[in-house]
Amino acid sequence: MAQDNSRANMTTPNRPSRGGPEGLWMRCPHCKATIFRKEAERLFNVCPECGYHFYLPARDRIAQLLDQDSFEAWFTDVRPSDPLGFKDRIPYCQRLEAEQSKTGMLDAAVVGRGYIRGRPVVVGITDFAFMAGSMGSVVGEKLTRAAEEATRRRHPLIFVSGSGGGARMQEGILSLMQMAKVSAALGRYDKAGGLYISILTNPTMGGVAASFALQGDITLAEPGALVGFAGKRTIWATVRLELPEGFQTSEFLLQHGFVDRIVHRKDLRTEVARIIDYCEH
Ligand SMILES: [Zn+2]
Repeated sequence: MAQDNSRANMTTPNRPSRGGPEGLWMRCPHCKATIFRKEAERLFNVCPECGYHFYLPARDRIAQLLDQDSFEAWFTDVRPSDPLGFKDRIPYCQRLEAEQSKTGMLDAAVVGRGYIRGRPVVVGITDFAFMAGSMGSVVGEKLTRAAEEATRRRHPLIFVSGSGGGARMQEGILSLMQMAKVSAALGRYDKAGGLYISILTNPTMGGVAASFALQGDITLAEPGALVGFAGKRTIWATVRLELPEGFQTSEFLLQHGFVDRIVHRKDLRTEVARIIDYCEH
């Protein structure tokens, strides 16, 4: 739970570059090429040289995945609290305020209704930018309500995970409970015959991977995403086990049956629409 082991992968196109006009160029962390920011943005925030998938904020994800202007955000007033009065380097309540002003979000999840090539869907997204996308009470509650709404409306459900931290340690047991809560809602949705498509993006780790992200009827992953429970360093520190190269990537998980298909970001909308049609007819 709560390892913050993916921060190194958090190279965002929004980070100012050193030298040169700010933000005009960016460096790909994978192939090290210097690329024109506008070009990467045109390609859905993907490196034009090597296909590396950069971090994508929830609002851009919505724009890419859903039909234009079809998204209606739900439960936007659910806000986090600090019931434990938790303090690490700084008090949790201060951290929350800082994250909120940095991202313009109240917490790490966005849920709502939208359309994908004309098909109604319920969507939930966890955004890495807000405390590494970790699952506290608000994330758990919003995803649970999204699953319940999808059950009531009989809509396909799509969760896009981008969570490096797993459960949010600042909320202690309250964050761990969210794993069971979301899973139970997904179980009821499944019993009602719902179709749940889980999309794994870089990174999907910890309690998020250990609950809803890997409970999809269909599991898609973006290329090269880091997906796993504990990171390599943590596993070594705990059980002294050397793990195979690339064992927590989309490609490795595809080979071992955890992931059904790896889909390039530019193809996600079409692919999800196709799966919905296939499953519903
Ligand atoms: Zn590249």
